[in-house]
Amino acid sequence: MKIYNPVIRRWQEMKIDTPANQKGLVASPTFFDIHTHVRLLDQEDYNSLERAALAGGFGAVLIQPNTKPPIETENVLKMHFELAKGKIIDYYWTCSFFGQLEPDGKRILCYSNDGIEYDTQKIFWTFKSKKPDLLLDHSQFYEVGGLFYEGTPLNIQKRPISSESISIFRNVMLGLEYGFKRFHIQHVTTEFSIETIQHLREYAQVSCEVTPHHLFFNMEDIKNTNFKVNPPFATEKDRQSLLEAVKKDIIDVFATDHAPHHEKTSDFERAAYGTSGIEVAFSAFYTITMDLEKTIQKMTIAPRKILGLETDLDLGNITVIDPEAEYIVDVRNFHSKGKNCVFDGIKLKGKIVGVKLKGKWVYWDGEFLFNDQEHS
Ligand SMILES: [Zn+2]
Ligand SMILES: [Zn+2]
Repeated sequence: MKIYNPVIRRWQEMKIDTPANQKGLVASPTFFDIHTHVRLLDQEDYNSLERAALAGGFGAVLIQPNTKPPIETENVLKMHFELAKGKIIDYYWTCSFFGQLEPDGKRILCYSNDGIEYDTQKIFWTFKSKKPDLLLDHSQFYEVGGLFYEGTPLNIQKRPISSESISIFRNVMLGLEYGFKRFHIQHVTTEFSIETIQHLREYAQVSCEVTPHHLFFNMEDIKNTNFKVNPPFATEKDRQSLLEAVKKDIIDVFATDHAPHHEKTSDFERAAYGTSGIEVAFSAFYTITMDLEKTIQKMTIAPRKILGLETDLDLGNITVIDPEAEYIVDVRNFHSKGKNCVFDGIKLKGKIVGVKLKGKWVYWDGEFLFNDQEHS
């Protein structure tokens, strides 16, 4: 079978024994998601997330800190370790930028401010008082408020499109002054942000990611409250600039921002933010870029490099893909508890067929090849 080796950026022919013979399949290292929400309580848990991740071709995910309660203290962290014990995918964590924890380089890989509201004063004091390390930055100007971007055809409170880039600039400059060296900007959505990141790269190590939904939709496409995401959908011009930035490798990483919720209220004002999509993220990225090698590179080696994880090709950890298969997304088939997905009903190309982890096939053609008792 042909496997894409993102380290040398070349396809290689390798002998891979699969549970069943199927034509036209190719392999990749298992995917890594640098931006996953597990929520806890009854919205998602480490079991449902594991199955959803495997069905999406992921072998490892990095959990964001805004769980219930947030990952801010040793006790909460211990609870997460306990809940994820014995799971077969690799779970890694971020710790809240505003809590008591620090990255340890083993299981807590970095800080993140995702999903936790802050203002200029709070982020300034945090940079001033924290031990410098990699920060995953949800860049938002919370002071200006606004649920959607200006121009969105909804009668609702709006925020300026420029606000994201202003926040990126503010956060990176503040961090730099207080000794922070590495910044990873989450879910960029605007052309201004892309330009700002390129400018900041003259001074600091700044990587960035994009989500499949922001590559797919603009503010005119908002159909229901599943399309209420944060950051919101921007203009078509912004979306085109994101696609261009992927082409030019200005955007480093493809991230899911998998954000499961119960059925959302139809009230845009009150509905929660987020779309749940780890199971279809690869297909969405591939469908919109039609570039299999780039999609694999940005879902495997790129995030691992930023986090300082092993990047060598390992035939014990692979995802098998049918690049020609097409399917219509149906959230009723999701293993995630979150059925709030903007891709519901949309036809995507490229299907995950199998996942091998640590030398064992654990997922093949819709079936999980392990039982929970065995691993929990
Ligand atoms: Zn965010
Ligand atoms: Zn997020």
